Amino acid sequence: MSLNQLVVAKFGGTSVADYPAMSRCADIVLSNPNTRVVVVSASSGVTNLLVELTSANVNDERRLSLLKQIAQIQYRIIDDLGRPQDIAAQIDKLLSRMSVLSESLVLDRSKALMDELLSMGEQCSSVLFAAVIREKGTASSAFDVRQVLRTDSHFGRAEPQIEQIATLSRDFLQPLLANQVIVTQGFIGADNEGRTTTLGRGGSDYSAALLAEALTAHAVEIWTDVAGIYTTDPRLAPNARPIAEISFNEAAEMATFGAKVLHPATILPAVR
Ligand code: ASP
Ligand code: MG
Repeated sequence: MSLNQLVVAKFGGTSVADYPAMSRCADIVLSNPNTRVVVVSASSGVTNLLVELTSANVNDERRLSLLKQIAQIQYRIIDDLGRPQDIAAQIDKLLSRMSVLSESLVLDRSKALMDELLSMGEQCSSVLFAAVIREKGTASSAFDVRQVLRTDSHFGRAEPQIEQIATLSRDFLQPLLANQVIVTQGFIGADNEGRTTTLGRGGSDYSAALLAEALTAHAVEIWTDVAGIYTTDPRLAPNARPIAEISFNEAAEMATFGAKVLHPATILPAVR
């Protein structure tokens, strides 16, 4: 692969919801040798559970139940992978961090702690997705996007720092792409002090476009469970029609006016 053919592919929550979905998406990744950077969302439902964990009125019983639901989603995938010890250990570490963070939030409602907790879904799904690709015989590893996706410190809706992201990506991410598929997290970043930040709900699309820009990729692909951009949401309107081709402006307009198919800021890095 030459790097100017590089494709960055993003898979949303339903696409990484469970092992069968991850496996189908891994096949999509492997069908194009130029796809070397994969950006994943948290498995479907996980970020909503994490959001509830950060809420002020969650009691201890509910807190434990939420943690259990999150663990079950991860463990179903680990089981389907044949319970690899190293992967289970990595996920266990993330799950116990979730538990500690959710407990700390009871005493200290810090926005930084909340963002760290919200980031855990993508941390889990990226570890698992890389394992699914390796299972298919291709070298792959999970990469901590916080090494390169620098943002300001506006927790919950952090602003990406484009120039720093470009420099960091060239230094720390580009060299890894020669002989493996890198799987990394959408939605999350880190500020100058290394504190975890998030880009706002649905932010994984934006992450993918930012990384594609930083790596001067040939294309960014947003894969989802709907086969294209439709005139209206096909899950709600039966007469919705797929749009074969759409300009940056039209796509930006649709996203800005609430079409959930794309995070509104995603178009900006793509245009640049
Ligand atoms: N997991 C995050 C969310 O649910 C980001 C994303 O899916 O794009 O909002
Ligand atoms: Mg989305």
